[in-house]
Amino acid sequence: MNVEILGVGTELLLGDIANTNAQFLSKELARLGIGVYKHTVVGDNEERLTKAFDDAFKSCDTVITTGGLGPTNDDLTKEVAAKYFNKELVIHEESLKEIEKYFNKQGKELKGSNKKQAYFPKDAIIFSNSCGTAPGAVIKGDENRTIIILPGPPREMQVMFKDHVIPYLSQFTSEVLVSKVLRIFGIGEGYMAEQIGDIIDKQTNPTVAPYAKDIDCILRITAKGKDENEANSLIKPTEDEIRQRLGDNIYGEGETSLEEVVAKILIDKKFTIATAESCTGGLLAGTLINYPGISEVFLEGAVTYSNEAKMRALGVKKETLDKYGAVSEETAKEMAQGIARIAGTNIGISTTGIAGPGGGTEEKPVGLVYVGICINGEVKVKKYNFQGTREKVRQRTVMNALDWLRRELK
Ligand code: ATP
Repeated sequence: MNVEILGVGTELLLGDIANTNAQFLSKELARLGIGVYKHTVVGDNEERLTKAFDDAFKSCDTVITTGGLGPTNDDLTKEVAAKYFNKELVIHEESLKEIEKYFNKQGKELKGSNKKQAYFPKDAIIFSNSCGTAPGAVIKGDENRTIIILPGPPREMQVMFKDHVIPYLSQFTSEVLVSKVLRIFGIGEGYMAEQIGDIIDKQTNPTVAPYAKDIDCILRITAKGKDENEANSLIKPTEDEIRQRLGDNIYGEGETSLEEVVAKILIDKKFTIATAESCTGGLLAGTLINYPGISEVFLEGAVTYSNEAKMRALGVKKETLDKYGAVSEETAKEMAQGIARIAGTNIGISTTGIAGPGGGTEEKPVGLVYVGICINGEVKVKKYNFQGTREKVRQRTVMNALDWLRRELK
């Protein structure tokens, strides 16, 4: 089975919404071992939708559409799909009852336009919609060509996919694709390719694919097997080899984040933490606080932007600021020590730097940042030179501070 995913909706073309339905469907179909050939998006227009079906069936046998099943006249996916296979629409009584029930539950009256949603080709397989009114369907044409129509709202589409489409598609597949994602921080894509390029090049099952994201890198290891167990055991030796080569640069796997990893280590070790921030202005504290449950260990965060605040709230010495400046190793050190002492935490972590775009000098350019970490009285400082906009410098400071802390705690 070769699938094209066809998003229907002018708002997708205008960029008003992102095509998350295609992303969801691709992931799910991959898990089922079904190949997705193409993603396409087309506006609510009969002629263009018909042309999109023509194009899709040149390389695929199955088109899955999302959107355009609503009650209004510009919702025309089902009508165009039926016409494409020369099928007449007739009322599907069961769907009509379901739609009536849905309206009654909401205390609304069923209007004529909503009845449109209960019309389908006679031989279609209908998928009921437990979260909305528009049912989905499988519409089969000649020559083994199939159109599966699903509603646009992601929640409705996802529930319908899990409840009805997966059972329907399972009859066509005997293999599963399983992916494992490793998350990497602290090395660039180039260095990663150097370290594991031979593994990437030689693999066929599993395959190994690196992706550079904005801040970190991910490696996706994907295996095909007759079931999940077989696929997982194919992944294991490759994963072990990659872990051995990249070591500590791998900070986690699957859907995780640096802050989650750091928060879990802190909670596990029962290490309390407080932050003292200058250039990141609370972003470090805010990022840590993204993790639910952090209240067990995160006690306090200070945003000390001015020199005065650094002295008053953290006890940074005036002589230090006068002699070395606010953006300096010495100040970062005293900020980290100060916040740990005042908050009474095991860990104090500080940031001070020049986020830009102005304020840089030859000696202290934009992107120069110091991070201080004080763990149980022992303080260390790291100097960074980041590139990019003010936002990027602040973001990179936070992520590098968290990554350094993660490595220190290990
Ligand atoms: P309804 O019965 O609500 O009219 P529908 O099946 O006709 O549903 P659309 O009207 O095309 O679907 O889309 C409804 C809403 O679903 C859109 O406003 C949008 O919020 C969301 N949506 C549609 N298509 C997508 C998509 N490909 N990805 C993410 N969201 C989508």
